[in-house]
Amino acid sequence: MDIVIKRKFKQNYKTGYPLLFKEALLENNKLNEGDVVRLVDDKGKYLATAYIGNQNKGIGWVLSLDRDEKINYAFFYNRIKKAIDCRAKFYSSDKTNCFRVFNGEGDGVGGFTIDYYAGYYMFNWYNKGIYSFRKRIMDAFMNLIPFEGIYEKIRFDDDNLEKEAFAYGKQAEMPLIVKENDIYYSLDFHSGGMVGLFLDQRDIRKKLRLKYSSGKKLLNMFSYTGGFSVVAAVGGAVQTTSVDTAKRSLSWTEENLYLNNLELMSNSIVIEDVFKYFDIAYNNGTKFDIVVLDPPSYSKTKAKIFSVEKNYRELIYKSIKILSKNGIIVASTNNSAFSRDEFLEQIKAGCKQANKKFDVIEEFRLPEDFRVNKKYDGSNYLKVFFIRIK
Ligand code: SAH
Repeated sequence: MDIVIKRKFKQNYKTGYPLLFKEALLENNKLNEGDVVRLVDDKGKYLATAYIGNQNKGIGWVLSLDRDEKINYAFFYNRIKKAIDCRAKFYSSDKTNCFRVFNGEGDGVGGFTIDYYAGYYMFNWYNKGIYSFRKRIMDAFMNLIPFEGIYEKIRFDDDNLEKEAFAYGKQAEMPLIVKENDIYYSLDFHSGGMVGLFLDQRDIRKKLRLKYSSGKKLLNMFSYTGGFSVVAAVGGAVQTTSVDTAKRSLSWTEENLYLNNLELMSNSIVIEDVFKYFDIAYNNGTKFDIVVLDPPSYSKTKAKIFSVEKNYRELIYKSIKILSKNGIIVASTNNSAFSRDEFLEQIKAGCKQANKKFDVIEEFRLPEDFRVNKKYDGSNYLKVFFIRIK
């Protein structure tokens, strides 16, 4: 089927912009998830080939700029092969055995990702359209690379599908222990959306451990399974405090500490709302040398509804109040609706509220294995600043 693109968006699609969105279409076409369509200009000239799949703000993803390329088994085979080849360095590492193998539009097919965890693979499907190609994608993948087992998570609404499922090979025993830069983490593939480790923070964990932790007291807010605390402790932090509202954080963080021969005495875990903890620490006069802020984009607890867009400045302000002299804040967000500059503005606003100036001493975006589509800003969603408060 041909879909006519409005004139003002023609150049974007011709040059590789990957996301198909409704406002770009000239007519109100009747589209079904999984349809492969040709994008054409108002004179019927070919621009790109796309598939239909509803995901966040988009209605599909561009697959090819070659009018003769068929969207079949060979197409997926070639894209996945290229992605695997790009990760050769990760496959041959003896320090790290967990990384992203296929990163959606960054590897040429938006809508699904593949992660590698110590012999096992996890597929994430983000829309129904790409899921309709599942068999071809899985077959191509299995013909390309050996594996112990394959798991998958469905990240779109469909009552008929299991949200998380084991797909092929043999099942892994949970917890599955993985290694990142010689530090161990305990994973669980059956614990909801997340598996226990955010692979995209690898470079931040490494920098924090090697350059900033030694001799320091660290507060890890929204700590989840304690990744930042573990690396800080390995890097010589004298004290870490991990704060998260979720009860599962306690035993999971303990497990990660034990796996790395760290002890609980100097690494405390507090199950509490971060906003309450800020007040407790402030009232007790407790100070920290480093505060890590890596919240979810949105969360609702008994104490507060939190959104990165509205409340990040408050997190910065409250962190400064309990920061020791020349202290560091690691400010992170994975909110793709928030640009790098907008995020930096929030950080500035928080500092201003506290009457403080700061230097940006490190800045990170997504790591190498999370390949991004340079034509599409939303694909490099991670933004991390290390700032030193003056
Ligand atoms: N920084 C973590 C990942 C954070 S995931 C890491 O690097 O691994 C987000 C976490 O924030 C979840 O574990 C969730 O339980 C927690 N959370 C959400 N709202 C919270 C709040 N108001 N106070 C404390 N924790 C919160």
